[in-house]
Amino acid sequence: MKMDSWEKIVSVEKDLIQANEELADENKNYFKNRGIRAIEFLGNIGSGKTSLIAKIIEKVKDKYNIAVINGDIAGDPTDIERLGVSTIQINTGGECHLDAKYIRPFVEKLPSETNLCFIENVGNLICPFEFPLGCEHRVVVVGLTDGPFIIRKHPVTFRIATVAVINKLDLQEFLDNDPKKLVEDCKSINPKAAVVLTSAKTGKGIEELIKVLNL
Ligand code: MG
Ligand code: ZN
Repeated sequence: MKMDSWEKIVSVEKDLIQANEELADENKNYFKNRGIRAIEFLGNIGSGKTSLIAKIIEKVKDKYNIAVINGDIAGDPTDIERLGVSTIQINTGGECHLDAKYIRPFVEKLPSETNLCFIENVGNLICPFEFPLGCEHRVVVVGLTDGPFIIRKHPVTFRIATVAVINKLDLQEFLDNDPKKLVEDCKSINPKAAVVLTSAKTGKGIEELIKVLNL
């Protein structure tokens, strides 16, 4: 590829990212005006995003009118639906991340009484970081099963995290992956992010996560 066409691609991409940021700000205002607290979860497929959201919902559902927007390339949100909260399933049909424009029509369909909305991004640690949705928190989830290099190989994603969750602590004894090292990796990339160790299976760390999210 010639250099000038490469530069053109880079500049189109910059425009897309800029446009998304403006729309994310609009979403942020929209949430604020409707009195909705919005929290995004991102992380690999199988890291436990849905299970963590479900555990949080179990503990705070008497306090809030909750809705969940669940982005997947393909899938269904049965895990969350059984908790009796409103769910909107977005099957992106191949698109590897949600963006601010894409979610807006779904956000506008949230039940009027909603005052807490979890948005689960498409399972992927690579590109969602570039497309903020306008949520007050971006919670980045890794599982111990993701391996010991998962954080240091995705520094740009951990830089935008407001909260980093290291999940699946219940599997620690079977895995050669020290959660303390993952915490150190995260702290060195993004000292501002809160880091919470959890097991969505046993419930360990869920109270702390709720506290960190100020729910
Ligand atoms: Mg999920
Ligand atoms: Zn993507």
